[in-house]
Amino acid sequence: LYGDERLNSSGINLADREIQNRLIHALGQACQQSWQAAPIVNGDILTGKQQTRLNPANHRDAIGEVLLADLSAVDRAFSIAHSAAPKWANNSASERAALLERAADLFEEKCTELMARIMREGGRTLHDALNEVREAIDFCRYYAVQARRHFEHPIVLPGITGEMNQLRLVGRGVFVCISPWNFPVAIFTGQIVAALAAGNCVIAKPAALTSLCAGYVVSLLHEAGIPKDVLHFLPGRGDEIGMKLVSDARIAGVAFTGSTSTARQINQILAQGERIVPLIAETGGQNCMIVDSSALPEQVVKDAIASAFNSAGQRCSALRVLFLQQEIAPQILTMLSGAMDELCIGNPMNFTTDIGPVISSAACKELRQHCDRMNSEARQIKIASLSQSHAEGSYFAPCVYEIERLDQLKKEVFGPVLHVIRYQADQLDKVVEDINNSGYGLTLGIHSRIDATIDYITRHTHCGNSYVNRNIIGAVVGSQPFGGEGLSGTGPKAGGPHYLQRFATERVVTVNT
Ligand code: GLU
Repeated sequence: LYGDERLNSSGINLADREIQNRLIHALGQACQQSWQAAPIVNGDILTGKQQTRLNPANHRDAIGEVLLADLSAVDRAFSIAHSAAPKWANNSASERAALLERAADLFEEKCTELMARIMREGGRTLHDALNEVREAIDFCRYYAVQARRHFEHPIVLPGITGEMNQLRLVGRGVFVCISPWNFPVAIFTGQIVAALAAGNCVIAKPAALTSLCAGYVVSLLHEAGIPKDVLHFLPGRGDEIGMKLVSDARIAGVAFTGSTSTARQINQILAQGERIVPLIAETGGQNCMIVDSSALPEQVVKDAIASAFNSAGQRCSALRVLFLQQEIAPQILTMLSGAMDELCIGNPMNFTTDIGPVISSAACKELRQHCDRMNSEARQIKIASLSQSHAEGSYFAPCVYEIERLDQLKKEVFGPVLHVIRYQADQLDKVVEDINNSGYGLTLGIHSRIDATIDYITRHTHCGNSYVNRNIIGAVVGSQPFGGEGLSGTGPKAGGPHYLQRFATERVVTVNT
C-alpha cells in the first residue's frame, strides 16, 4: 500500500432510496439560502467590489454575492503569512496532519452544504458533487498520512566515522494556490492542504466563477483549526489579484491548475522575480482514446460517453479525441449515437441527470464557435437534443464530429464535444506519433484485448495517466495519482506519494560528533 494505510471516503449510499430522498431534501433546503464570500486575511473579513453569482442551470437564480479582494489585500496577506511561516514550518508534521484530519471530518459532516454549493454554483450533477466532496476529504486524509511519513522525522544518511547526516523536508514559506472552477471544492482543497501539510503558509485565490464554494471551504479549514495567520483567502480576477500575487517578492511557490497559457504566463512572471521558486502546474489536455478492433464495443461506448460527456466535458482529464480502427468504427459510431439519445441533460438537482450545464454563457459561446468551425470542416456524427427548457441555463448539447487529423484541433475544447478519427490497422505507430506531437500529455485511453498493443501504446505515449479498457476520468486519491506532462503541466501527481515533496525544500545537517 506504499505507506497509505487509510481508506478513501465511502461517501453516501445513493442506492438506498430513503438515504437518497433525505439527501435530495437536504440539498433543496441548503439551496434556499443566499451565500456570501469575502476576502479573509488573518481571519479578518475584508470588503471589496461586489459581484453577484448566478446558477449556471438557471440564470434567474441569483445564488449569492462575492466581494472581490482589492490589490492592497495582497500585501497584507503576504506580510502576515510571511511572519507566520517559520512557526508553522517548525510545528511537528503530526500536528499539521491532525488538523487536516479534523478538516476531513468536518467536510464529511458538512457534505450536503458542500454539495449544494458545488451543484448550484458549479453546475455539477449530484453524483459529481458527491464524488468531489469525497475527493476533497481523501486529499486531506491522504496528505495527512504523507506528512507524517515524510516530514515528521529526518532521514538519517550514512557518513564517515564521527559524522552524522540528517535530511529533513521543510516548508518553503508562502505558497500561492490558484485553482480552477471545474473542481471548485476538490482541487481548491487539494492544493491548499498539500501546501499546508508540507509546512507552508497559503494565500488561496479561487476561480472567480466558483468563489462561494471556495469561501465555504476556507471557513471549514479555519474551523478545523488551521491558524488564521497561516491561511488567507483572496477571491478576485486572475488577471488582477492572481498576477499581483505571483509577482510578490515574498512568494515561495505557486500551485496552479488551469489553462496552459495562464501557466506559461505565471512561469514568465516568476522567472522575472528575484527568488527562484517552483511552479506546480496542472493544465489542460488533448486527451485521446485508441480503440482497436479487438475491443468490446459496449464497453467502448460506455467509457467514451462517460469520459467525453460526464461533468459536461469540463474535466482536464476528459476525452477529446476517439481514435477508432477502421473495422470497428461504423459499429461504434452507430452505438454511440444511440446511447447519446439516452443521456439525461438537465438540472443538476435532479437525481437522474447525467449532464448538467456548462459553467457560463461565455463558455457556451466559445463551444458554439468551435462547433461552427467543425460544421464546415468536419463530418457531424451526432448532436444530442436539447429542449426549450434548457434555454434558462448555460446548457450545451453533447456532440460528436469526425475529423481527419488531430492537428485540426488547435487547442483544448473544454466542453462536451467529442472528435473521432479513423485509423487503419497498420497506422498505430502514426496515431501514437500524432498524439505525442500534440504536445499535451495528460490522460490516455486504450481499448484493446491485445497485450502487445497495450504495451506498445503505453510505452510510447507521453502521458501522465493511461487507462486501459475503462473510462479515463475520475482519478482516485492514492490509487491513480493525477497529473500530466508537456503542455499538460509540470508533472506533480496530486494524490500521489511524491506530491508533498514538491511543496517542500530539503535541508541536510551534517554534524561532526
Ligand atoms: N482529477 C480529475 C479526473 O481524474 C480531473 C481534474 C481536472 O479536471 O483538473 O477526472
